[in-house]
Amino acid sequence: MEFLDFSSRQRSRSLGTVFPSWKRGESVAFFAPHDDDVPLGAGYLLRAAIRRGGRPVVVIFCRGDAGFSTADAGRTIVAARKREAVQAYGKLGVPEEKLIFLGVPDFTLMSTVSRGRGSKPELFDRLVAFLRRERISRIVTTSPHFENWDHTAAFYHAVYTSSQAGDPVLADLGPPSSVRTILAYSVWSDFGPGPGEASPAADKGILASKEDERTVREALRAFRSQAAIMERTAAVDRRRRRMDDGYLELYRTVEVRRPVDYAKYAALLKTFRRNKD
Ligand SMILES: [Zn+2]
Repeated sequence: MEFLDFSSRQRSRSLGTVFPSWKRGESVAFFAPHDDDVPLGAGYLLRAAIRRGGRPVVVIFCRGDAGFSTADAGRTIVAARKREAVQAYGKLGVPEEKLIFLGVPDFTLMSTVSRGRGSKPELFDRLVAFLRRERISRIVTTSPHFENWDHTAAFYHAVYTSSQAGDPVLADLGPPSSVRTILAYSVWSDFGPGPGEASPAADKGILASKEDERTVREALRAFRSQAAIMERTAAVDRRRRRMDDGYLELYRTVEVRRPVDYAKYAALLKTFRRNKD
């Protein structure tokens, strides 16, 4: 397994290429709006985190109640998917106690991004408390770019709960703990355009072995209830991942609260002319 940086065009054996200054023992949260999203889009990274001494936790936001292809399956789909998810993540090396099922109905996740006004703790608070309690230092989440409304919502949860988790606010949710890296992965579609014309939309990646790809496909097969849906989409996509020397998975680094570069404006100001009137 090799780690790739498309900006500097370097490949290495160090997980630090995609998670800068990586240390063994770090906790990584994998956000899965739907149970199968992580194996579909970040299966290699999950395997890599385990191999490099990380402690992954998979947060499954939605309960999968829309993912059925025959009317009959609608009654049993939620329980079936939970069983399938436990099996699938087991194959990837994540035990059941490291799976968090939040049980949000499909296609409603965006309504939970706001904090809510009820007296019971809402999802926002639960996530901030979780990031602090588990000392999550990296989050891997879905891309927000025209994939699925729940995928966009999971992305915004990652961006806005992580920034608050590190701030000295909401003290009842535990002591602040900072997330150092957020990476977005693609499930169904390309990332949004890159920062410059010459820069690729994804800046990081993993080149995995045939064995890793086989393990991920095995995990995906555990989602038997999703077979009809996957057959038409993801299965085809996975063949396109094949490169000359491995299978490619891509990520986009999400920069939260990048400081303003005032020097750039200072240089520009020197070129200004002052209007006389
Ligand atoms: Zn999904």
